[in-house]
Amino acid sequence: MEFDLIAMIRARMDVARTDVALGIGDDAAVLELPPGQQLVACTDTLVAGVHFPVETAPEDIGWKSLAVNLSDLAAMGGESAWALLALTLPESDSQFVERFAQGFAELAHRHRVALVGGDTTQGPLAMTVTALGTLPIGNALTRKGARAGDALYVTGTLGDAAGALRLQQRTGGREHGAAGLRPSLSSRLNRPEPRVAAGLALRGIASACIDVSDGLLADLGHVCTASGVGAELEIEALPLSSALKVAFDLATCRELALAGGDDYELCFTVTNAREADMHTALAHAGCRVTCIGRIVAGPGVRVLDAQGNAVATPQAGWEHFAR
Ligand code: ADP
Ligand code: MG
Repeated sequence: MEFDLIAMIRARMDVARTDVALGIGDDAAVLELPPGQQLVACTDTLVAGVHFPVETAPEDIGWKSLAVNLSDLAAMGGESAWALLALTLPESDSQFVERFAQGFAELAHRHRVALVGGDTTQGPLAMTVTALGTLPIGNALTRKGARAGDALYVTGTLGDAAGALRLQQRTGGREHGAAGLRPSLSSRLNRPEPRVAAGLALRGIASACIDVSDGLLADLGHVCTASGVGAELEIEALPLSSALKVAFDLATCRELALAGGDDYELCFTVTNAREADMHTALAHAGCRVTCIGRIVAGPGVRVLDAQGNAVATPQAGWEHFAR
């Protein structure tokens, strides 16, 4: 049965790469790394009921399990190439596997990622995807390169996925026709688009980079800690989608943008000397970016209002923040 499931997954995948010397079917895969390139590797687990609501469509789970990993590779400036999939299923559910594999394959196809192996086991529903990519030696975009004076940017818009989740919880999963824009929020939650092109475009340009998976404040905090700097964030500059602004009041939108997770946008820093190059490169990549503040000396992330006064952040209590 396990082998039927593996064959089913394999049959759904349509990416063939010449750098896969040996793919699914042996004890391990054998991959060719181009000369002058380093391997960039990451892994992420999704657990049912923890990382996605149990009623999530299997296709969406498949897509997202790969997307969260491609987002990590993108944040390193890596070019994604290969993936491994460890799938734990409560029972041998071929319909689930077929639909899961379809969503996974759809995103893999877009980014030319070949599934080269995995594992299939029985247990509570969970999946671990390992993604592998390539990077010219020494070109990784890390968390530790931010310096005081660098400008702080984010791709796309923030808070949409967290907004979708909040709407879902509020309505108990039932569809409300209230906002016609709601599907665009849901797709940010269920079908996140990893910023692959933007990550590649930022190679050699950004001084530090991270993908926003746990919320902007938390992830920017990681960059600050790794780089030994602080950051000033302008609350009025946070990029908010029109769908989010229709669904929530401004204070809630900002709370979702600062602390909500699952955005999979890239937050990066750039020296003033490279800012113009960055805009050109990201325009070529077709990616919107917004300057949301700057890197400063001293620790921590401070959120500032239009007058430059510090605003209490979500951790410090929402009452102060809601203004
Ligand atoms: P082994 O017993 O040597 O670990 P398995 O029987 O688990 O091998 O797997 C057989 C082949 O199928 C291996 O090449 C493995 O990488 C691949 N495989 C197993 N499960 C999956 C999966 N969920 N997705 C993709 N490939 C898988
Ligand atoms: Mg095995």
